[in-house]
Amino acid sequence: MTKIFYRTCYRYTTLSFSPKTCSAGGCRVGTIHNLLKKCPYKLDIGAVYNTKPSIGRHDSIILARELVFDIDLTDYDEVRTCCKEAKVCDKCWKFMVIACEIIHTALRDDFGFQNILWVFSGRRGIHCWVSDHEARTLDSPGRSAIADYMCLITGGENQNKKVNLGNDNLHSSIRRAINIIEKYFKELLEDQEFLSTTERLSTFLKIIPDETLRHQIEKVLDKMPTSSLQRWESFVDIYNNYCKENVTAIRKMKHLIEEIMIQYCYPRLDINVTKGFNHLLKSPFSIHPKTGKVSIVFKPEFARDIKLDEVPTIYTLLDDASPENAQHQTNMRTAVKNFQEVVFSLEKTEALRRKKYGGNSMEF
Ligand SMILES: [Zn+2]
Repeated sequence: MTKIFYRTCYRYTTLSFSPKTCSAGGCRVGTIHNLLKKCPYKLDIGAVYNTKPSIGRHDSIILARELVFDIDLTDYDEVRTCCKEAKVCDKCWKFMVIACEIIHTALRDDFGFQNILWVFSGRRGIHCWVSDHEARTLDSPGRSAIADYMCLITGGENQNKKVNLGNDNLHSSIRRAINIIEKYFKELLEDQEFLSTTERLSTFLKIIPDETLRHQIEKVLDKMPTSSLQRWESFVDIYNNYCKENVTAIRKMKHLIEEIMIQYCYPRLDINVTKGFNHLLKSPFSIHPKTGKVSIVFKPEFARDIKLDEVPTIYTLLDDASPENAQHQTNMRTAVKNFQEVVFSLEKTEALRRKKYGGNSMEF
């Protein structure tokens, strides 16, 4: 791995080379020519420093870093049933669609951010880069506060119930997230069959905190056909009737249905990536070394339309004879256009900001 620092802004970037072509080592203070000459297969991008940072040097100061989010489908392994670990399909991509919509809406409506870039990681996740000046210059407590605000699922493997919304009325952002999840929930229940096997049903029952209710539900669901959708609808009926007859129960688990929906579908964020400054994210349009897929830039409103087979790969793009070539070329052009739109909008915002404050502190 070679580090390269852009001359104008000391952007921390590492280049990865394939062992066959690598002659790493000669790359010091870099320019774009260095990048072209070295021809890395992957670029990872970090913060902007006041001076050239290096391993032995600890006096460099971070001037800016986009606010970033990293969502990986492997963090959904306890709920997704179609794939495990590095495997991803169009069914589990729906978890990413929900994550993208919830995070994007919160960033835009709750924090007022406008310059938000969404990138497919190339294999099993998505990255979000918030580039507004306020986001780039956000300090560590500010980043932590946003990450914690977005984080609703807590606890490790041994915790059965991972969401606790309390008994008060729900915060508007949580209500909005639930409305987004509701749009996809039935589809996901059918795709993922969250409740269809004995094992999955047992995991689900463990989330229910009231023992009497849990037994009632278990008795009914056990005898039912295995359809997760039907089982879910029965659960909702039993829960509603139980709460109607039992005033203390409603106090104890007022938002149980919402809590379960969140536990199954809400974005599972790697919050340390958002909180810290040191995590490097793959540059947009990198080629994933395992899949050959391009890290395409997509518009959040079209996340749902992404088909993983239609994501361009380095192989199909370079091979005119490939049956996917034409489609992948078109999708690549769309991705570049999406990227340009975000960059142009950011440039416009920056120009306005500089004009307003007369500053040129950000050599972006
Ligand atoms: Zn899958």
